[in-house]
Amino acid sequence: MAYHSGRQFLQIPGPSNTPERVLRAMSSPTIDHRGPEFGRLSLEVLEGLKGVFKTAGRVVIFPCSGTGAWESALVNTLSPGDKVLMFNTGQFATLWEALAGKLGIVAESVPTDWRRGADPDVIEQKLAEDKSHSIKAVCVVHNETSTGVTSRIADVRKAMDRAKHPALLLVDTISSLASIDFRHDEWGVDVTIAGSQKGLMLPPGLGFNAISDKALAASKTAKLQKAYWEWGPMIAQNAKGYYPYTPATHLLYGLHEALNMLNEEGLENVFARHKRHSEATRRAVRAWGLEIVAVDPREYSDSVTAVFTPTGYSADELRQVVLDRFNMPLGTGLGRVQNKVFRIGHLGDFNDLMLAGTLAGVEMGLEIAGIPHNQGGVAAALDYITETHKQAFSAVRA
Ligand SMILES: *Cc1c(COP(=O)(O)O)cnc(C)c1O
Repeated sequence: MAYHSGRQFLQIPGPSNTPERVLRAMSSPTIDHRGPEFGRLSLEVLEGLKGVFKTAGRVVIFPCSGTGAWESALVNTLSPGDKVLMFNTGQFATLWEALAGKLGIVAESVPTDWRRGADPDVIEQKLAEDKSHSIKAVCVVHNETSTGVTSRIADVRKAMDRAKHPALLLVDTISSLASIDFRHDEWGVDVTIAGSQKGLMLPPGLGFNAISDKALAASKTAKLQKAYWEWGPMIAQNAKGYYPYTPATHLLYGLHEALNMLNEEGLENVFARHKRHSEATRRAVRAWGLEIVAVDPREYSDSVTAVFTPTGYSADELRQVVLDRFNMPLGTGLGRVQNKVFRIGHLGDFNDLMLAGTLAGVEMGLEIAGIPHNQGGVAAALDYITETHKQAFSAVRA
């Protein structure tokens, strides 16, 4: 492999870049995870997480990837043979569905063309038809990372309320939490599923469930087998800052620091930054004359943009060129859109000049790989970024 100077310019939509502050926080000595110092840190983390999920309830942390947090949400709330309503919005929705099937849950999967999110009208209709309330949960991936499409969870909730149906609402926010506005309590979400390695800026290894009172009540009677994932003992031990088994201590040091960083910037500013970068990215893609996967502007993702290469041109070859020449990994096309799509991650610890570098790498890659496109994508993105700063600068000076 050719030698590359400098850091790898990681631009995949998760794991995202881990900031120096988090890396340094994690390089601390191991302490007793049943001792007072760890208990204090842990209580601060559990409290801080509530602000990020926007819940007054409880958030539990598992040492696991996002997939474990999916499983935990299901096994704690459902019983064998229970029916759930799912939306096949992309590869992650497909994997969640497959996992539910393996657990003995019966998923009714609403197909989509992988270019739009869960349709609130379809949810209302399906729930209204379900007079016997056989559907126990509606499961939605908030931000479908494989397509760059964000489902409208507030509208999903309204649709469920209009249908007056008691199903639980389970939402995967693995690539949206701390990047895109999300409100567990206000939107009436029952279980929010998250992971450490995307908007939370940590390495992979932590999974989260935010749990509503209704979900907690459901967990008392849910009959799917569970041991490691059981909420009860976790919530009981968390009350004093401890865990039923050894927590991922160093990731929790990192999470403590990541929460500090999110608070310093302010969550609303974090969301605005992600919005700015996603808009700039789309302007670049439009100027190149390429097409993004998301079709509905209300569903454009602020954390990842998935882009089609023109028919007959390999997205994987483009990614290989950009990796070899510029040491920049881009997200691969997953499942149905493999080799047709490349994905630009613009989430987590990310700034304007990182975006400029990312788009420059893509633009040069398009030229080198011989993919038909127009010049001027980077310039279009920079014009937009410049204009937003100019407005803010004039406002300060005035
Ligand atoms: C990354 C991701 C997952 C999978 O998480 P793992 O940590 O790989 O298990 C699930 N859902 C979404 C939306 C994701 O972006």
